[in-house]
Amino acid sequence: MIDYGLKDRVICITGGASGIGRAGALTAARNGAHIAIIDLRQEDIDRTLDECRAFGVKATGCAMDVRDAAATRAAAERIEAELGPVRGLYACAGISRAHLASDFVESDFDDIMDINTNGVFLSCREFGRRMIANGGGSIVAISSVDGIGGHPGRLAYAASKHAVIGLTRTFALEWGRHNVRVNAIAPGLVDTPLLRANMPKPFMEDIAEQRTPLGRMAQPEEISSVALMLLSDACSYVTGAVVPIDGGLTSGYFTRG
Ligand code: NAD
Repeated sequence: MIDYGLKDRVICITGGASGIGRAGALTAARNGAHIAIIDLRQEDIDRTLDECRAFGVKATGCAMDVRDAAATRAAAERIEAELGPVRGLYACAGISRAHLASDFVESDFDDIMDINTNGVFLSCREFGRRMIANGGGSIVAISSVDGIGGHPGRLAYAASKHAVIGLTRTFALEWGRHNVRVNAIAPGLVDTPLLRANMPKPFMEDIAEQRTPLGRMAQPEEISSVALMLLSDACSYVTGAVVPIDGGLTSGYFTRG
């Protein structure tokens, strides 16, 4: 097992009850970090918290919507009262819905921007302020390969994930002097409920097998390993970076020969 040096650090994970966020919570707990999960449904949060506690760490959770600034503040207060100062934030909560651009439904556009971009803004602002007050910390926000390029049907998703990169870079510029590092990761295809619900299987297989140099999609643990490294002191000189974790998908014009 890789030791990320996170023992006894408090790490908060938004969207931590499923997929990539859940894998992050479990990997951090296995490394001795105390875990706070923010997600929508208490029963999903509790399931992941129990799995985290099995590693002997403290774990707590808040059922709330990342679009709600007041709830984010209240959650941060509760988490710090229970676990101590949050030193790491892994902002994973996100959604996707697909429509062709000319038919894009306004309410879906608003939901995607609100959760994927405003939610990241609110979480980073709240926990970043607290990290500044407490002497420092590290934040990892999830963008996507769609935050670097894009693909048809993902108009709002691509816009929201490009925006996450803009947020990341600006927070990094402003908070470096306060010892708060802010980085983004840009995963390619990752085998999670979100991906399977939003991408037709033949299309998914085509991208994973034919257009990705590594020839497969990622498992959520292959994303959390990089995120935890960015959260750790191993990356003490990394801030404002956007790290692709995409099996080579964005490196060029690969097609299987
Ligand atoms: P997932 O659906 O398995 O997990 C997302 C979690 O976010 C869920 O537990 C959900 O309840 C939570 N969530 C959604 N809206 C929320 C809200 N308003 N408030 C609080 N929590 C909310 O999806 P995933 O694939 O693990 O995605 C996690 C992140 O990774 C997302 O931001 C997604 O855009 C990004 N991402 C995923 C992939 C992929 O291929 N799966 C690729 C690139 C980026």
